[in-house]
Amino acid sequence: QIERTRRLSLQTQHCGRGNRYKETLSIVSKCETYSHFCIFAGVMERTFVIVKPCSLQRGIAGEIITRFERKGLKIVALKMYRFTKEKCAEHYSHLVDKPFYPIIEKSMMAAPVLLLCLEGIDAVAVVREMTGSTNGRKAAPGTLRGDYCMSHQENVVHASDSLENAAKELSRFFTEEDYFDYDQAVFPYLYAEDEL
Ligand code: ADP
Repeated sequence: QIERTRRLSLQTQHCGRGNRYKETLSIVSKCETYSHFCIFAGVMERTFVIVKPCSLQRGIAGEIITRFERKGLKIVALKMYRFTKEKCAEHYSHLVDKPFYPIIEKSMMAAPVLLLCLEGIDAVAVVREMTGSTNGRKAAPGTLRGDYCMSHQENVVHASDSLENAAKELSRFFTEEDYFDYDQAVFPYLYAEDEL
């Protein structure tokens, strides 16, 4: 419960969804078995995905989104965006000093991208697993990079690698108005009761 609470408050801080989640947090600590609230007590996660310029150029952006939908991930935010030099340097701050950074910048600014927030239980790890290794030539078949690309850089998607980074990246690109709160009719068929 402590770990769930920690994760929830981290996402709350970064996603700007304060009120509803603070309320949830206090209810969760009082009533752990009330399933609706337990979903949000850290088990249900939100992660961040960029469908990269190469995917839009190649006309596979829709297929990539379909793969996430088919898996059972819920789209809670989606927008088209064009990277600036500044935003690219911020997003790839861990790589700006690398000799190949100019290639990243050129590639990410070559065309617009699609930005997505996907929601699901363990969404960060699930989406990362679906994404595959960085180099498309080495990525396992069945992963997005394994199935759709041949490159280290032109590797079709970016996906957050931890819950903390997902929260930071979501707040970097989305504001509170970008998120859509809606019930999915298929929800009871995506998860068993004891997973919620
Ligand atoms: P990942 O996207 O798998 O999390 P990294 O965070 O290490 O991988 O790198 C971010 C992005 O930078 C990669 O997706 C890729 O587009 C680019 N990149 C990383 N390493 C290289 C490289 N050696 N040459 C060209 N581009 C690279």
